Amino acid sequence: MEDCIFCKIINGDIPSYKVYEDEVVYAFLDISQATPGHTLVVPKHHVKDIFAYDADLAAQVFARLPKIARAIKASNPKIVGMNILNNNGKAAYQSVFHSHIHLLPRYADDKFSM
Ligand code: 5GP
Ligand code: ZN
Repeated sequence: MEDCIFCKIINGDIPSYKVYEDEVVYAFLDISQATPGHTLVVPKHHVKDIFAYDADLAAQVFARLPKIARAIKASNPKIVGMNILNNNGKAAYQSVFHSHIHLLPRYADDKFSM
């Protein structure tokens, strides 16, 4: 998609800090870290939101989350938990319309609240 910021990140046209990549997903640090290590996992295939996934793509993307979550957790011994969030539609606070899954590392003393 021409005007999609996350497609541009996947293609390397906009810089990002890569956390993980394979043939299905690209994972990178959120530009605005809600907690340290806040990562976005995006399907490489442009899909707008959860309503636009087919079951096969959903299975492929979601199957990768445990591995990526473990890698983030292993990167910092202070990470003691993780929220996994996915906003769909403006009313649900989606601001970038290329579907993405937030992996939010949690720390014993962090101040993040939903
Ligand atoms: P949403 O509100 O759609 O669930 O989340 C969009 C997320 O994308 C936000 O947390 C925002 O900080 C992040 N974001 C927006 N633009 C960029 C960008 O250019 N680079 C990176 N790394 N993250 C971005
Ligand atoms: Zn896109």
